[in-house]
Amino acid sequence: MSKYDVTVIGSGPGGYVAAIRCAQLGFKTAIVEKYSTLGGTCLNVGCIPSKALLDSSEHYHNAAKNFEDHGVFLKDLKVDFKKMVERKNSVVDQTCKGIDYLMGKNKIDVLHGLGSFVDKNTITVTDDKGKQTKVTSDKFIIATGSKPNYFPGMEPDKKRIITSTEALSLKEVPKKMIVIGGGVIGLELGSVYARLGTEVQVIEFADSIIPTMDKTMGKELTRVLKKLKIKFSLSHKVQKVTNNGKSVTVTALDKKDKEVSFEADYCLVAVGRKPYTEGLGLENVGIKINERGQIEVNDFLQTSSENIYAIGDVIRGAMLAHKAEDEGVFVAEKIAGQNPHINYDLIPGVVYT
Ligand SMILES: Cc1cc2nc3c(=O)[nH]c(=O)nc-3n(C[C@H](O)[C@H](O)[C@H](O)COP(=O)(O)OP(=O)(O)OC[C@H]3O[C@@H](n4cnc5c(N)ncnc54)[C@H](O)[C@@H]3O)c2cc1C
Repeated sequence: MSKYDVTVIGSGPGGYVAAIRCAQLGFKTAIVEKYSTLGGTCLNVGCIPSKALLDSSEHYHNAAKNFEDHGVFLKDLKVDFKKMVERKNSVVDQTCKGIDYLMGKNKIDVLHGLGSFVDKNTITVTDDKGKQTKVTSDKFIIATGSKPNYFPGMEPDKKRIITSTEALSLKEVPKKMIVIGGGVIGLELGSVYARLGTEVQVIEFADSIIPTMDKTMGKELTRVLKKLKIKFSLSHKVQKVTNNGKSVTVTALDKKDKEVSFEADYCLVAVGRKPYTEGLGLENVGIKINERGQIEVNDFLQTSSENIYAIGDVIRGAMLAHKAEDEGVFVAEKIAGQNPHINYDLIPGVVYT
C-alpha cells in the first residue's frame, strides 16, 4: 500500500496544477488518472484540440477567402481533413507528454486507473486490466472534471449524433451540420466546420447566442458568424434528434410552438457539460452531490469530509481551465497552511471562434 500526504484524483488543469503546487510545497504527492494520457478534458478533448482545429481552419479560410485581396493566388486549394486531424492529434500528444514531464520533474507519482474512495483516507485505484492498488493519503483533492451534457430526445450515439469529443475527430468534413446550443463550445466547433465549407445551422433555445453573456456581444457575434454563412434558429426548443443512417433529423418547436424539422449529415449536441463523479465512491465518505451534480464545497473548497477537497468543473462556478488551475493552487496553499485567495469576479471568459 502506498502512502501520500496529498493524492489528487483527475489530471486535468485543476488536478495537475494542484499536484505540482503540492509537490513544490514539500508534500509527497500522487496523481490518479483513469485515462492512459494525462491532461484531462482540456488537453485531450477540449481547449487544446479545439484551438488546433481553429488554427488550421483559419489558415484554410484565409487562403480561400482573403489571399486574393493581397494579390496571392493559389491553384487547386483543398483540405486534407485527415491530415488536419492528425496534426491536431500530434499537438495533443505533445501537450500531454509535457504533463508527464512535469510530473516526473516534480517527483509526483502517477497512478493510472479509476480512483474510488474506500474511506476518507483510502482509495483503490483500478487499472484497465482490473488490477487494484490501495492508496492512503492524509488529504485528497478531487478534480474529476465534467463530461458533455444532453437532454432527453437528443442522446448522443457518437456516430451521427455527436458531442464535442467526436466533433474533434470526424473522418470527413460534413456537408451540413446542425449544432444544438449556441454557447461557447457549439460556436467554436461550428466555426471550425463553417470555415471548412460545412453548412452550419445553430439551434438555440434562448433568444440570443452566448445567452449567458451580455446580449450586445451575442448580437455582434451573430453578425460575424453570419459572414461565415452560419444560420441561426433562436428560441427553438429541440424535441428529438434521429439518426437515419446517413443523415440526422432534428425536430424542434419554434417560438410559436410550431413543429419544425432540420436535416443534416451530423448533429453536434453542445448544450453544456455536467460534473463527473461516476465510480468515485463518494457514498463511502458521505460526500453528497447537489441537484446539478456538483460536489458541494465551502469557501476553502473543502467537502463535507474535511480532509477531502474538490476543484474545477466538478464543483460550482465557471467550467474553465484557468478557474480549475487557480483552485488547484488555492487548495495546495491552503493545505500548506498559507492564506491564498481567489477573486471569482475576475475570471475572464473567452468565446473562441
Ligand atoms: C471543446 C472544448 C473546448 C474548451 N475550451 C476551453 C478554453 O478554450 N478555455 C478554457 O478555459 N476552458 C475550455 N474548456 C473547458 C475545460 O476543458 C474545462 O473547464 C477543464 O478541463 C476543467 O478541468 P478539470 O481539471 O476540472 O477537469 P477535466 O479536465 O475534465 O479533467 C478531469 C480528469 O479526471 C479524470 N477522472 C475522472 N474521474 C476519475 C476517477 N474516479 N479516477 C481517476 N481519474 C478520473 C478524467 O479522466 C479527466 O482526465 C473547453 C472544453 C471543451 C469540451
